[in-house]
Amino acid sequence: MTDTSRRQFIQAASFAPAAGVAAASKVGRWTVITIGNLSRNRYWGESDAKPLREAICTCTLIGGGGFQLLVDPSLADASLMAKELDRRTGLKPGDVTAVFVTHEHGDHFAGIEHFPKAAWFAAAPVAEILNRKGTFSRRFEPAPAVLFGAVEVIPTPGHTSTHHALRFDCDGRAVVAAGDSVATRDYWRERRSYYNAVDAGLAAKTMDRLARLAGIIIPGHDNYFAV
Ligand SMILES: [Zn+2]
Repeated sequence: MTDTSRRQFIQAASFAPAAGVAAASKVGRWTVITIGNLSRNRYWGESDAKPLREAICTCTLIGGGGFQLLVDPSLADASLMAKELDRRTGLKPGDVTAVFVTHEHGDHFAGIEHFPKAAWFAAAPVAEILNRKGTFSRRFEPAPAVLFGAVEVIPTPGHTSTHHALRFDCDGRAVVAAGDSVATRDYWRERRSYYNAVDAGLAAKTMDRLARLAGIIIPGHDNYFAV
């Protein structure tokens, strides 16, 4: 961990909302667009050794004054992505203002190209990794600490070393769109990492921290749940 990311981690661990965020929640509504699933799930009695089905990540739309922020665009098929967005929100891909990608695993940006008009954000170290791939039609922008004055970008290392999640307030509850820092509700209960985590011990510490930061968790591959 670099000094900067360690500092960010400690700042986030102090639970103090970033300056300006505490005053007013600007998120009006959040909606799960696709409920994710894992390619193999030990809590279903499956081995970690090989994939048994296609993995889809949980994709969420966070909407507020003047923004529609899509987290982890999940579907590689353009018409399916548009269909799910419409089915859950009535919006078209062109209505999405910005997309945020939590980390560099392919299932979390499978649908990114279907949002050519949106800003593409990832936390700075994740944006760097994604841009280095050289496989996208556009570059990812390093996300500011707070997106649209309402959605905090918080470091959640463990699954990957540079993984970042989003935290916001809505209807009086703190919500964390956790990406793969939380795989599913079952993994969360045992503070267990998915098999491909780079540092399971750090991931467990991150989950403990999220338990204090969040009233609702939106995991990377499951429906949302109350903490
Ligand atoms: Zn992942």
